[in-house]
Amino acid sequence: MIACLGRIVQDTDAGSIPDDDVSTLSESLDLQGTIESGGITGVAGKDFGGLYFVKPLALIKPSGTEDIARVVKAASQTSHLTVAARGNGHSINGQAMADGGFVIDMRSTEENHFKLLTIDGSHYIDVSGGALWEDVLKRCVSMFRLAPRSWTDYLSLTVGGTLSNAGVSGQAFRFGPQTSNVTELEVVTGKGEITVCSETQNSELFFGALGGLGQLGIITRARVKLQPAPDMVRWIRVVYTEFQEFTRDAEFLVTQEEGESFDYVEGFVFSNSDDPINGWPSVPLDPDHEFNPAYIPQTAGSVLYCLEVALHYRNSDRPSTVDTAVSRLLERLGFIQRLKFQLNVSYVEFLLRVKQVEEHAKANGNWDSPHPWLNIFISKSSIVDFDRTVFRKMLKDGVGGPMLIYPLLGRKWDSRTSVVLPEGEIFYIVALLRFVPNGPTVEKLVAQNHEIIKWCNKEDLDFKLYLPHYQSKEDWKRHFGNQWTRFVERKTSFDPMAILAPGQKIFKRTHTIKP
Ligand code: FAD
Repeated sequence: MIACLGRIVQDTDAGSIPDDDVSTLSESLDLQGTIESGGITGVAGKDFGGLYFVKPLALIKPSGTEDIARVVKAASQTSHLTVAARGNGHSINGQAMADGGFVIDMRSTEENHFKLLTIDGSHYIDVSGGALWEDVLKRCVSMFRLAPRSWTDYLSLTVGGTLSNAGVSGQAFRFGPQTSNVTELEVVTGKGEITVCSETQNSELFFGALGGLGQLGIITRARVKLQPAPDMVRWIRVVYTEFQEFTRDAEFLVTQEEGESFDYVEGFVFSNSDDPINGWPSVPLDPDHEFNPAYIPQTAGSVLYCLEVALHYRNSDRPSTVDTAVSRLLERLGFIQRLKFQLNVSYVEFLLRVKQVEEHAKANGNWDSPHPWLNIFISKSSIVDFDRTVFRKMLKDGVGGPMLIYPLLGRKWDSRTSVVLPEGEIFYIVALLRFVPNGPTVEKLVAQNHEIIKWCNKEDLDFKLYLPHYQSKEDWKRHFGNQWTRFVERKTSFDPMAILAPGQKIFKRTHTIKP
């Protein structure tokens, strides 16, 4: 089998593998699933970012964990083949790609697991690493009236893909990121071994794989904590002119106990202008809502701030009870009273809210254009400086899409995982979700991202990139900081030849790993 693999690899440096070689490869790997040649234009060679294109050797559609283990083992018996798990390819910088290697389409395994468990009275769902969160949501709610506790804003992302990063949304202040809401994983390591791991069993692999950027193993199954699903959500947006007031209220809400705050807290910065994408029109939740700029104080600056919150409730709750609960929470906040927008939507509709944006963007042709996105975790101690220079000056006209900003609590993140955070107890996620239909060139926007990171470094801000992307080992070392040694040790244990997730560009494929 390896002889055959070797021949195909040597013969195919310049183009995709011919059909007959694909079938030879398939036979030699002895897969239950299928294999396709890896042309540069196929899904395996591109991602949502649209900034990187590389040609894999082949795209594998495994039927299950055994197939995945076989592919990794086969790669390990060559001198240079790599393997990238591809979730839904929603990375920005080629993280799920494998130049000349195998790309595993995890989506082909999405149906493999879906089992409800009750352990010590708590509910969990076992799902495939290749399942989309939106399917987990729909199935859990419709079948069991239960739902995961911690989400991402957009749910056409895979379970394994977000768990390899963190998985953050407006519930993370209470429950932590998605990586804090799983209790067991099944993982295929870089040695091709299938291992079940948890806090008490193979714990180094469990914590290492969570936020591990795909470096330690391919997550084929995850056990996710569930809670009773509410029926409805009161979704609210309120506007601020002053950053200090916005952050004071957001931090107040995320530090309250359950029952004393909203169930979801996020926020965004928008341009103080009538620009349809970046300005006032981006705030209302419904076409019937009107954003009246006459209510903006004269003292307002180049940008404004929107706090976005939501409260869960049940169909059986009386409207007046919900109104009272919402008013009690809102009356403690210092937003512009007449710039408040609210909507009642079903829980599932709320969680699928970005799907509508996707459909709209697809209709406009913006979904498939490049997305030079930048995500940063910034400590509370640095966020005022960041606002003053980056939001109010560099990005005052917007980025052609949302500029999210909301606080998170470090204590809700498990420091045993591979996720890297800034130091402060409260830190903010800042997400610059750029859409580039026909404005400035992509290169300019990528350069602006670099300029922002360079400025953060120059000013010595306490920050870490989320969904990080670096080209040099020095930068990766700096990113991991005092966690670098632990990360390298874990890599050495579970993927000693650096076969997995080569698109992250952290380690080079080798026979032995050198720290
Ligand atoms: P991919 O992009 O396919 O893979 C990401 C990395 O994980 C790659 O290195 C890949 O090799 C590895 N990988 C994939 N599957 C596995 C697996 N099963 N086991 C091990 N490694 C694996 N993130 C948030 O936290 N919150 C958000 O609200 C949020 N919203 C988003 C909205 C949009 C429109 C987009 C495009 C992205 C958003 N993200 C968000 C980022 C998202 O979490 C990342 O893109 C993440 O990589 C998940 O995407 P994916 O499943 O497509 O994974």
